[in-house]
Amino acid sequence: MARTADADSEFEFELRTCRWAEREWPPGGGTDEPAVLVARQLGTKRRRWDTIVLECDPDALEQRAKFGPKRLDGDLLHIVRNAPAEWTYYRDALPHPGYPWRYVREAIHRADDRSILEARKNGNRIQIRRKWPYPDWVDRIIAIENKPDLDASAARTLGPQLEYDVAMSLADEVWVATRQTGERVEPVLLEGLPVEAGVLALEPDALEAEVAWYPRGLSVDEPGTRILERPDDGDRGGSAARFEYVDPSEKATTRQRIAERAYERGWRSFVDTMRPDCRYFELRAEGPQDGPQLVPYCTAKDGRQTAAECAGSCSEFQPEPPAWRTRGWPIEGGPGKRLKRLLAGRRRQRRPGLDGGASE
Ligand code: SF4
Repeated sequence: MARTADADSEFEFELRTCRWAEREWPPGGGTDEPAVLVARQLGTKRRRWDTIVLECDPDALEQRAKFGPKRLDGDLLHIVRNAPAEWTYYRDALPHPGYPWRYVREAIHRADDRSILEARKNGNRIQIRRKWPYPDWVDRIIAIENKPDLDASAARTLGPQLEYDVAMSLADEVWVATRQTGERVEPVLLEGLPVEAGVLALEPDALEAEVAWYPRGLSVDEPGTRILERPDDGDRGGSAARFEYVDPSEKATTRQRIAERAYERGWRSFVDTMRPDCRYFELRAEGPQDGPQLVPYCTAKDGRQTAAECAGSCSEFQPEPPAWRTRGWPIEGGPGKRLKRLLAGRRRQRRPGLDGGASE
């Protein structure tokens, strides 16, 4: 199978960035360190970030756990954020959602099934009552692009993506994480990036990082500018870029949805899109002794595989032998299930309070 060194190194680097952020964020420390949740490969329809760091209020994060480990989608958020403390007809309690009420009724039943809302019939009217207030658990959202080999051409490619992020200001800060080389980051590279973006130089094996350039905070509460199209005719071209304004309330809703998805998925979910049910799939502990992390390893290739390689199309895939399911893996499923449970357990450790509250 063809492997690309770039893809390999970017995937590995991304996992190392996530692990570093989980241990060390914020860079440079601080007196008031937030609770931190890390996720990867999340964003919007138009823009997906490599790594996302959520800075959270520790108490509110624990309150969030009452709503269970699964994300709340937009419909559920609309309900739990507005659910009243006393029994109330749902149309009196909730603001009009901007779509038909029957979808709200469906969402009320889903929320009731997940035990995150109380609902009852009074005559033929559905009444609702909240179980707990939905907390404001996210203080800041940080977006990080991982570019282990940040040369001039990589900086030119990244530049427009970061300009999009700065104009939209959906995240509070945007960063580029690159591999530490021992040299200072060349000014020519910084010239290719917007001045608002921070640059982090990470040593992926020792999990140490230095800030090469500090970012500027972005105005998440102001209207954002979504760049739809940019002219491709160079500096002397006369074409205008196309863009649209994005309302702060729409940005707030999008941030909430991203945060909920990050809460559910974390960054160890890479295993969900790989083949841990393959007999060649292993998780190996790598990194410094005081903070090793589990990374995927393929014994058929004798090396680390990317998520793209470790898929249904892999020509070397072989299912785990049935005997593995009864010898040493007695609970349910085979090693694939066991590995998933292992990573899910680590994800739960980062979400205090998850053993109370709703089960789903
Ligand atoms: S599916 Fe392919 S890449 Fe993944 S562990 Fe099996 S052989 Fe390796």
